[in-house]
Amino acid sequence: MCLGKQITLDTILDDWLGPTLALVHCEKCNNPALLHLVTWRGRGLLERIYAIRLVDPSTKNTYLANINRDYCDLSRKTSETEALIGASSQSARLVLVTSSKMIVEAFSRDLFNPPVMDWQDVQTEAYDDWIKFLPA
Ligand SMILES: [Zn+2]
Repeated sequence: MCLGKQITLDTILDDWLGPTLALVHCEKCNNPALLHLVTWRGRGLLERIYAIRLVDPSTKNTYLANINRDYCDLSRKTSETEALIGASSQSARLVLVTSSKMIVEAFSRDLFNPPVMDWQDVQTEAYDDWIKFLPA
């Protein structure tokens, strides 16, 4: 994770006032990864802690090819996305983002494995529990 660098959004898979599940890459090191929302708070829910999981480039390309081919089949898309989540790294780093520019403001030194959840289930109350792992 590169502090002060932008997380570039390649494919947004779900969003609410900003991405909640997306394929991304780091503008500096270029590594492809899966980004998913862990907790959020503040005005416009702009203060967001995401988990970032590295994804094998071939896994990412296979996923994109499959969902583009059957884009109208929503159940197919869901199962492909579940497969992508399963194939991504099981250890995630946490990153703090506080604006739609998606600049990394802080990141965790330790690795975690928070569940990938729908944004409807993401809790503001969990923010304080997670932010302590992200030194300013
Ligand atoms: Zn990087």
